[in-house]
Formats: sequence, structure tokens, C-alpha cells
Amino acid sequence: MATDLYRAVYLRVTAAWAAATERINAEYARTLATMMQDSPADLQREVDDAASAIDRLLLLLTPDIRQWAFGVERWYRSKWRGAVLAATGVDLQTMLGPEDMAAPLESHIQWNVSLVRDVSDQIRQRIGNAVFDGLRNRTPARDVAKAIDEAVGLGRARSQRIASDQLNKLSNALADERRREAGISRFKWRWSHKVHGRREHIARDGKIYADTAAGADEAEGVLPPPEDRPGQLPYCGCRGQAFIQF
Ligand SMILES: [Zn+2]
Repeated sequence: MATDLYRAVYLRVTAAWAAATERINAEYARTLATMMQDSPADLQREVDDAASAIDRLLLLLTPDIRQWAFGVERWYRSKWRGAVLAATGVDLQTMLGPEDMAAPLESHIQWNVSLVRDVSDQIRQRIGNAVFDGLRNRTPARDVAKAIDEAVGLGRARSQRIASDQLNKLSNALADERRREAGISRFKWRWSHKVHGRREHIARDGKIYADTAAGADEAEGVLPPPEDRPGQLPYCGCRGQAFIQF
């Protein structure tokens, strides 16, 4: 599902920048060869044109982000239903719907709208730096083209990290919301087993936490809430699992 978000949304923006690089490279080479004007207006316009075409694309991506988020909700809802059914024999199917999750869905949709814009702005900034620093230093066109490729490549790599992080953040938010909705105020920390895991998250693996300090119970091994929640910190892949003691 992270790949779906990457392909349907982020990749389209990085691909649009990649498609614009040929014209920007050609304009750079032309400007460098004819350095008559003090202001390279045509080169600026080429970068601006690419950016405004991509700005229009960004507006079209919101429905795709929305569709992805609702797909994650559907998937998580069926997992939650299955887990509750297995644990309690109660089938919640008719009682659960996407409307219960409106708040986390909306906030994650808006979050992704701003993240994808930020990815695009960062690529634009890097391309702008490459061409205008290039002109100032009379950098050969092929070196500038390489720097532009790198700018797009960095955007692509960042997008992949964001898409996987966003999937984890949205599924944790949905898990938290479903758990609270069910009146369960305890969760088990599940470490992601990602390489370079945070030391304190590895230490929390398998421990039981309460939502509030008042809900902690030392005798039962229920700890007060940790400083950060599962999946909350950047690129944290940990999960919180609803916990009930029968
Ligand atoms: Zn973690």
C-alpha cells in the first residue's frame, strides 16, 4: 500500500520534474553559450513553467491521496474486525464504517497534500540552485544536467521513504482510533525490527502501556504512556497493538 501511494501520487510529481529536465538542460546550455544578457530570463521562465505545470498537477492529486487513505482504512477495518472476532467472537462488521475514522483520514490526507508539495518545492529549489550557480560559475552543461538528475533522484528517494512512513503513520492512527472507540486503553508496543531501530523502541518491544499515567498498573505490568507513540517519530515503523487482559 506504500507502493500504491508512491506510484499514484509522489512518483507522478517526480516524473513530471524528470520530464521537464530536458528542456531546462537545453535552455541552460543555450544560455551558457550566449551569456550576453545579465539576467537569464528564458532559463528562469523554463524553470517557472515546469513548476507551474507541476503545481496544476498537485491540485489533481488530492483525490488520489484521498482514495489511497480510504483504501488503507478499508484494509485496516477488516483486520480490526477479524481480530475482534477472533478474540471475542463478536462480529462488528455492521457497526464499523469509514465515517468513524473521518478525523484521522482527513488529517493524513492534508498531511500528504503538503508533503507532496514539499517534495516538489525541494526539487524545484535544487534545480534552481544547480542552474543559477552553474551560470555564475560557468559550469559545463553536462555537469549541471548531472546535478539536475541528482535533484530529481533525491526527490524520488525521499518520496519512497515518505510513502512508507505515511502508510505506517496512517495505520497507527487508525489503530489508535479503533482501539479507543472500543474502550481499550492499553496497547502493546511492537518494534518494527527495522535496521537502525531506535534503542528505546527496541527496549519497549512487547511491553504493555496505558494511554494515561492514571491507567498504569505496576502490579499488572502496565506501564505509563511513553514519551512518543508507536510510529509517531520520523520513519519509526513500530506499531501499537490493542491489549485486553481477560
Ligand atoms: Zn520505532
